[in-house]
Amino acid sequence: LVGALALAGCGGAGAGSTGSEGSGSTDKGDMLIGVSMPTETSERWIADGNAVQSGLEDAGYQVELQYAGDDIPTQGQQIDQMITKGADLLIIAAIDGTALSSQLDAAAAAKIPVISYDRLIRDSDHVDFYVTFDNYKVGVQQATSLLTGLGVLDADGKETGEKGPFNIELFAGSLDDNNAHFFWQGAMDTLQPFIDDGVLAVPSGQVKIEQAATLRWAQETAQKRMEDLLTATYGNGTKLDGVLSPYDGISRGIITALQGTGGYGATIADGLPIVTGQDAEIASVALINQDVQFATIFKDTRKLAEQSVVAAEAMLEGDDPEANDTKTYDNGVKVVPSYLLQSDIVYKDNITSLLVDSGYWTQAEVDSGV
Ligand code: BGC
Repeated sequence: LVGALALAGCGGAGAGSTGSEGSGSTDKGDMLIGVSMPTETSERWIADGNAVQSGLEDAGYQVELQYAGDDIPTQGQQIDQMITKGADLLIIAAIDGTALSSQLDAAAAAKIPVISYDRLIRDSDHVDFYVTFDNYKVGVQQATSLLTGLGVLDADGKETGEKGPFNIELFAGSLDDNNAHFFWQGAMDTLQPFIDDGVLAVPSGQVKIEQAATLRWAQETAQKRMEDLLTATYGNGTKLDGVLSPYDGISRGIITALQGTGGYGATIADGLPIVTGQDAEIASVALINQDVQFATIFKDTRKLAEQSVVAAEAMLEGDDPEANDTKTYDNGVKVVPSYLLQSDIVYKDNITSLLVDSGYWTQAEVDSGV
């Protein structure tokens, strides 16, 4: 990831900050911004963290960046420490969107504004702004790519008249991540008419998000569920045609299971089912290039990071950040003003135009998968 890798290693400079009182500081160089990211197991969060950090540092702020290893108490402690150190603003991508209420209460008490990053923090009044992608639309795009891979839609998104029937299985993300519900809703609203018409079938009968969910978006969990589905539902020779996957790590778990059972080829041309994804992780982009994974969704984390910096600056200057959505993201207590970015479907034939030409990945990375 060209930009992010070049920036990796610019360590968190915030540790030396002498606690300022909430947003009382005026000199930018004295201001500390706490950035809390969920995990380093997925490369997108590393790219996000690096891009947010460098954007803030370029703007003149001090930054304390922490990753919580997908552990909820760790994230709580890291944020508590940022508050104790006198952070002037917090940017948080939550592991569990419902688990940070006490940290947000403490931030509010210290008059520290909070930006929810990518994932909405729920059940708290103290979320001041939300920067994210149009998550419902991401789900629509995932389902669209599945329908395209099956030949039900053409390259322009028009119905081809192909009637199938196709057997599909459905995977969702982590239920404690608000985004997982938006992705699912967008995908299911898109797939349901085809299920109702008999073009698509879900032979396992697992059509509820609770049945399809993958705790912490874990690849191994998805691989295990796919293996179990293959045994329980497809052991009798029923053929699987496609899998809705909400995230590239999950996709790779699914693909490993499919390739491991035999019966399906190593590539789509050889009979491997259509598998979708999200995040344009390099391992999955390489698989798409090799005709193994069918598609992914590209969410340009550089733009999201930039937007969070713009919002942070506005807030620290006492202004309201510019929102382009003020009605979608109800966190259970209030509707959080949001800035939504757009995403793109990546297929084999637009890897170059979307990912290489934009500098997100180099051609060498696409070729090698690392
Ligand atoms: C993000 C996705 C990501 C997933 C797993 C979601 O909240 O929006 O981009 O694939 O978490 O990390």
